[in-house]
Amino acid sequence: MHVFSIPLRTRFRGITVREGLLIRGDAGWGEWSPFLEYDDAVSRPWLACAREAADLGWPAPVRDVVPVNVTVPATDPERAHAIVAAGGCRTAKVKVAERGQALADDLARIEAVRDALGPDGLVRVDANGGWDVDEAVAAIAALDRAAGGLEYVEQPVESVEDLAVVRRRVQVPIAADESIRRAEDPYRVRDLEAADIAVLKVQPLGGVRACLRIAEDIGLPVVVSSAIESSVGIAAGVALAAALPELHHACGLATIQLLTDDVAVDPLLPVDGLLPVSRPEVDEAALARLAAPDDRVAHWRERLASVGQDLDS
Ligand SMILES: [Mg+2]
Repeated sequence: MHVFSIPLRTRFRGITVREGLLIRGDAGWGEWSPFLEYDDAVSRPWLACAREAADLGWPAPVRDVVPVNVTVPATDPERAHAIVAAGGCRTAKVKVAERGQALADDLARIEAVRDALGPDGLVRVDANGGWDVDEAVAAIAALDRAAGGLEYVEQPVESVEDLAVVRRRVQVPIAADESIRRAEDPYRVRDLEAADIAVLKVQPLGGVRACLRIAEDIGLPVVVSSAIESSVGIAAGVALAAALPELHHACGLATIQLLTDDVAVDPLLPVDGLLPVSRPEVDEAALARLAAPDDRVAHWRERLASVGQDLDS
């Protein structure tokens, strides 16, 4: 068991360091990295995902590469341009509706991304539920114009009910993320016809097999996204994307670039917008280099005991 601590290149979803725990089992390494504010109940499926990776391994893939998007944080236009230009991907996912920023910031970022991508690339945005319904309708129209067409908008508003309302008021397809992985019932998105696309993340949803079941039952095209894991965690997302019967969209799994370092010998970085379907080998030197300080290791041990205890009870 190893606890890693990896600084991010740019602040992302309010964090500057990514911490997590790596466990090793008969099938290989698994990553457990629920965000620090998550309680035991929320963190439990994340552990199921790590255990599946370590103890069982994953279902057989049906493809050997996975198309991926470059992820652009809510940063300034120059940096956004540079990230897309360096990313080598044909699809860019751009964070918008960041707290403390204005729509003008999002529009400038989108224009820079389109410029870096060229006319043929696809641009999608993720608002993380940052708008209300009216803001979403106005912002989506403006961003769609600035992008010269958006592939889709992810989680423009927080609730499933509002998502369904926005979907009926805009032309751009809607993707649901938080409405699936944080919901009591992930199928309300389907039942309310609130989305065109389902974003699935393997850790919060309990692993590859659990996500394959959701993908089948939800009946929507799937985009697999990361939770900003190390290559060990990303490999589980790649395994899901590789095992889906159909895959029509680039996945949000090229997020190793958001970290300053990685635990793998060969980090899961895209080549020409594709990730290989592989299980990277953990680098012992990197584990030592990225080892979390003692007090953080103690914190993760306590978290694991707390979640594990609930699992047994
Ligand atoms: Mg999202």
